[in-house]
Amino acid sequence: MDHFLYRDGALYAEDVPISEIAAAVGTPFYVYSTATLLRHFQLFDDALEGTEHLVCYAMKAASNQAILKTLAQAGAGMDVVSGGEYLRAKAAGVSGDKIVFSGVGKTVDEIRTALTGGIRQFNVESEPEMEVINAVALELGVVAPITVRVNPDVDAKTHAKIATGKSENKFGIPIARASEVYAHAASLPGLEVIGIDVHIGSQLTELEPFELAYTKVAELTEQLRAEGHNIRRLDLGGGLGIPYTRANDAPPLPVEYGALIKKTLGHLDCEIEIEPGRLIAGNAGLMISKVIYVKSGEGRDFLILDGAMNDLIRPAMYEAHHDIVAVQEPAPGLEQQPYDIVGPVCETGDTFAKQRNMPPLAPGDLVAFRSAGAYGAVMASEYNTRPLIPEVLVHGDQFAVIRERPSFDEIINRDTIPEWL
Ligand SMILES: *Cc1c(COP(=O)(O)O)cnc(C)c1O
Repeated sequence: MDHFLYRDGALYAEDVPISEIAAAVGTPFYVYSTATLLRHFQLFDDALEGTEHLVCYAMKAASNQAILKTLAQAGAGMDVVSGGEYLRAKAAGVSGDKIVFSGVGKTVDEIRTALTGGIRQFNVESEPEMEVINAVALELGVVAPITVRVNPDVDAKTHAKIATGKSENKFGIPIARASEVYAHAASLPGLEVIGIDVHIGSQLTELEPFELAYTKVAELTEQLRAEGHNIRRLDLGGGLGIPYTRANDAPPLPVEYGALIKKTLGHLDCEIEIEPGRLIAGNAGLMISKVIYVKSGEGRDFLILDGAMNDLIRPAMYEAHHDIVAVQEPAPGLEQQPYDIVGPVCETGDTFAKQRNMPPLAPGDLVAFRSAGAYGAVMASEYNTRPLIPEVLVHGDQFAVIRERPSFDEIINRDTIPEWL
């Protein structure tokens, strides 16, 4: 469920007409709904009720500080995967003891930044990284709380580019080596081993891979405890999928996911952390774009939009589907027609949808890409010297630009010309 609905024939974000935002900020842009963000966070928080837990929003999904602050004020922690994300979370007012640091290649500088500013835990992904965190902690005279990310060798049954839990993936340590690696960690005085971490992939549409992974984590918890480790926190990663089409796919609900966590891990008396990103932000955001031209091709019509692959790369990168709807609601019974919906970038990959049925559209009409809140704005680039598009946050009948569109001068002046030219 989201808060982007038609009213009297016009698409709204909560109580604000999309066309009003478009008139104020120009197109293309991203727009997020506060109510939807909060609702999705609350679903997870409620799903773990009765268990000591923290929902750490995976901020790489959508990292604008206004979004972070909205969620943090509701009680969310943050999962960060870089020093930049760590600093951004801090800038949004999140305290260090609610930030977990994930990622397969943390640098010395990033580790130092987090240990200096305060950190809930590092999710360690390799023994070399463990050694470095230990060294930096000793240098700073602190003890770094850590979990080790284990790779449970589970098929997440999702797109290959976002599956992370198979043994051939770069993530975590093989679960079979956990004993050895935990013993190593326990021998390092700059580290305090507090738990286990696992994250098997993104856009999972079934519970079964989670069940397989969490069952292995439960067994590992008992084994490591028997070996003398004080395992008291389990970080279960993110990955629960969202419906990208209204029509048919219905991934498991957070409440079902929460029940599975309690079933597989509830007897261990551990604090639970989860790191959902996509499910919190994905359906809380739209990308709004304008039709520039309608071009008749050989046997097909193209809708050429002002938004492009550099603004929303998911279709080009993951063959992802986004529902695309007209901002002006089509009259009931109006006949639809197939369009190839494309952006202006000079690549055939800049195609959002092929032969997609849409109401007849004309230059100047607005369209909305649904489910664009996660892995949308954060993955945008300035390819073709196209400015990063603005982000707008709606709250009831108010809206605010939470990131401005840069001017061409700002973009161009970032280059510096060497003396010899
Ligand atoms: C990407 C990622 C997440 C979030 O995944 P979603 O599919 O967006 O829920 C959580 N944890 C880690 C370690 C990640 O890399």
